[in-house]
Amino acid sequence: MLADYAVRVEESRGRRHPEPPHLYRNDFQRDRDRVVHARAFRRLEAKTQVFTRRYSDHFRNRLTHTIEVAQISRTIAAQLGLNSDLVEALALVHDLGHPPFGHSGEKALDTAMRQHGLAFDHNLHALRIVEDFELRYASFRGLNLTFEVREGIIKHSHDYNAKDHPELAEYLLDQRPPLEAQLIDLTDEIAYNTADLDDGFEARLLTVEQIADSVDLFARRYRDAKSLYPNAAEKMVFNEALKSIFDGLVGDLIKNTAQRVQAAGVHSLEDVRRHGERLAAFSPPVEEQRRRLKDFLYENLYYSPALAAEKEDAERITRELFAHWMEEPDDLPRSYREKAAQEPLPRIICDYIAGMTDPFIYQQYEKYCGT
Ligand code: MG
Repeated sequence: MLADYAVRVEESRGRRHPEPPHLYRNDFQRDRDRVVHARAFRRLEAKTQVFTRRYSDHFRNRLTHTIEVAQISRTIAAQLGLNSDLVEALALVHDLGHPPFGHSGEKALDTAMRQHGLAFDHNLHALRIVEDFELRYASFRGLNLTFEVREGIIKHSHDYNAKDHPELAEYLLDQRPPLEAQLIDLTDEIAYNTADLDDGFEARLLTVEQIADSVDLFARRYRDAKSLYPNAAEKMVFNEALKSIFDGLVGDLIKNTAQRVQAAGVHSLEDVRRHGERLAAFSPPVEEQRRRLKDFLYENLYYSPALAAEKEDAERITRELFAHWMEEPDDLPRSYREKAAQEPLPRIICDYIAGMTDPFIYQQYEKYCGT
């Protein structure tokens, strides 16, 4: 049962290259499946989420993070009456443009590009992947995804302005994205804030006391869990606390978004698009808790001394490889050398590096910059 403000697949603005309908999958289901079968999707398995070199085989990588985002998004979409096929496609595609080494890789690539008056942005890169780099079909380049999925790739987390990005004009930059896309940025936050607490704790980079000292929400939930399970192992109490934080964030997002939609008098997709601000949101008190949790993770995990050396390594490797190929473009694979005829060399190198997995960039570094 779709809500009146949901995206309807039969009203999709369609694909760049028209295709006959499939016998039993609708266009958003096909898009979801195209993402799952993409090479770039498979490479997410070997890309860092937070921990540059895996501390452990059971920590999140970008693929398992993506699957967690899809799970949370489906749950919320069902409760809000949103189009869950579109939501699932958007969740599965949302991190497709991330380079190796997580945010360190992203930062290093962007810094290298800025020296040439260009920039790196993972959403724009994801669009290049699905529009151009994936080669699966005889009659067109890319995955030929529907407009709504491409729009969601661009608009789920960020508002691009038309003046700086004339190439994105077709994506209705003056309008809000559908709720299906708005949701993804927030489910992404729920997924990584809770997962990073979990992995950070398992890696022994965070302790219960340390988290409880800074994050009220955690302190309260941990106390509740402890009184319910006084004899349980610390990790089990931790898990119960985390589960309840997780549930609280998801429940608040569902409830508050539904209330905002109602209060705004929104009754169609057009209303969502024309509304002055995004409607998917946590309530103000939960938003404040989310922000504190995020700040805590930045200070104590992402910028922790324990991860600093790996981050510096990641940035250095990315920077040096980029510089190497700028000096020696003949060392690029032939398909990339050929592209350099149509696009600036830094862009070609950036595309090549951004597509790499962590193991592959290490291998390339050894090959070209190793001593
Ligand atoms: Mg993500």
